[in-house]
Amino acid sequence: MQTALADFIRETNEGREANAILRACVHCGFCTATCPTYLLLGDEQDGPRGRIYLIKEMLEGSEVSAATRLHLDRCLTCRSCETTCPSGVQYGRLVDIGRHVVDQRAPRSVAARAGRWLVREAFLSRGLFAFALGAGRLLRPVLPAKLRSLVTIKLKSGTERPL
Ligand code: SF4
Ligand code: SF4
Repeated sequence: MQTALADFIRETNEGREANAILRACVHCGFCTATCPTYLLLGDEQDGPRGRIYLIKEMLEGSEVSAATRLHLDRCLTCRSCETTCPSGVQYGRLVDIGRHVVDQRAPRSVAARAGRWLVREAFLSRGLFAFALGAGRLLRPVLPAKLRSLVTIKLKSGTERPL
């Protein structure tokens, strides 16, 4: 596809790499058939072809909105789309560049960044995760139903299951 990247990125390494990837895409849409988020949500912008367009527009200088970020956030980075692309488009690398640019041009709120940091730390730390699970079990009776269903209970056998 034709591209005209904006000044802020055109002459950078990321810009040159993204440009080459974008130009390899012929917009055929074969990739959408193997994208789990497109199959689930049925929205072009939640599939690889739509996201490629969003990234292209962003790198060409269009405004970066919360919607742009949401569609990129929803991508699982599973790269299933790459397996069905006849042009060898490196979507995974392109979405990495796109996310980096979104973070720079439309930073998340402090609360959103703190929440993401907390989730990342909790899942990477065995101790913190065990503490959160224990607290969740203690508070389970007063948790909202949606959260309650996520907290497992411990059985005498040592196994765990949701109530
Ligand atoms: S299959 Fe490849 S060339 Fe076709 S739209 Fe998807 S990424 Fe572009
Ligand atoms: S990486 Fe996975 S979720 Fe993201 S666009 Fe490709 S197939 Fe869809």
